[in-house]
Amino acid sequence: MNTQELDKKYVLPTYARVDVEFVSGDNARLVDSNGKNYIDFTSGIGVVSVGHANKRVNSAITKQISKLTHTSNLYNIAPQAKAAQKIVDSSGYDMKCFFGNSGAEANEGAIKIARKWGESEGEIKKYKIITLQQSFHGRTITTVKATGQEFMHNYFGPFPDGFVYADDISSVESLLDDHTCAVMIELIQGEGGVQPQDKSEVQLLAKLLKERGILLIVDEVQTGGFRTGKFLASNVYEIEPDIVTLAKGIGGGVPIGVVMTSLKDVLNAGDHGSTFGGNYLCTTAACEVIDILSEYSQSGELEDTIKYFNQALENFYKNNERLFTQKVGIGMMCGLRVNDADTLSAIISNAKNNGVMVLKAGKNTLRFLPPLTITKEEIDEGFKNLEHSVSSL
Ligand SMILES: *Cc1c(COP(=O)(O)O)cnc(C)c1O
Repeated sequence: MNTQELDKKYVLPTYARVDVEFVSGDNARLVDSNGKNYIDFTSGIGVVSVGHANKRVNSAITKQISKLTHTSNLYNIAPQAKAAQKIVDSSGYDMKCFFGNSGAEANEGAIKIARKWGESEGEIKKYKIITLQQSFHGRTITTVKATGQEFMHNYFGPFPDGFVYADDISSVESLLDDHTCAVMIELIQGEGGVQPQDKSEVQLLAKLLKERGILLIVDEVQTGGFRTGKFLASNVYEIEPDIVTLAKGIGGGVPIGVVMTSLKDVLNAGDHGSTFGGNYLCTTAACEVIDILSEYSQSGELEDTIKYFNQALENFYKNNERLFTQKVGIGMMCGLRVNDADTLSAIISNAKNNGVMVLKAGKNTLRFLPPLTITKEEIDEGFKNLEHSVSSL
């Protein structure tokens, strides 16, 4: 049986897979099982932030796993402690980290911190967490409920209580009450359709929450790790959240989730844990990814790449205004709003045939999450292939 046949027979059909199998990659390039070449504008949904088969990451992790991969969190783990230091230092916040294995798990940790803080803070038990209608926070039972998009709650109930959805940032205030412990937001909604929040609205909300003694949780699972040009989108928005979650781009493809918080004393021994979380493999990868991207950012190359990519995207948008209504996004988290869903599907499928991989977000957004290390040549080639993909539409 080939891969597709094996997959059909043995893997649960939770993904609407595109019929392609990649076998190797190099930075923003991918090669499929037929030897066909592609430019990757998806980086595995914002995960392979330093590109495919990154030599520095591969060398760091192979060196590490030739000594140790896992010992458990019962013992000290050098790369975990170092990764925590690098993450905290890069953020500019006075925080501590907990390591899990995914974005959903990082958000579970954030919710547990907020709930435990809410139990001990003041006389009334605070447990309510306000999230946004168009949000996406993960696939576990609790993070599905934390996700505001109604279609996510079709099955799987009963759910944990205490999640309330605001239409948008400006309507959060009217939902705050004495039982509210936290507000959880993405600064740029990813799965919801590449939707950046308004900076001044976010700053007003952050200020209001500080005054009211309510926590601000920022889900940076997609926006974190230099995706927006700075280490965190919170740095771009110039706010100081109480809790931040990270995952996707931080491990360069190795599974990792992080919740970091300034509430350093809320969780104590036994309150939370993870068997795999923060092991030698994933935290070694994270240390190398953060080093690579910090250097890349400090040298000005990241900013250059962001400018070049956005100019190319702008040109593509201008050339094809009959198909699109708006260019959206920040840094290397970009999208084009497409006139209708059928056109969007056609673009994505033509793009694959023409050797460039792109994503869908929400109902009508063509989404771009290229590796941050993508070269100018790769950007040019990708958009050339994309022009071919829309010429008949
Ligand atoms: C992808 C994503 C998640 C879920 O991450 P997993 O690693 O799939 O659990 C949570 N929040 C945001 C904003 C995401 O983009």
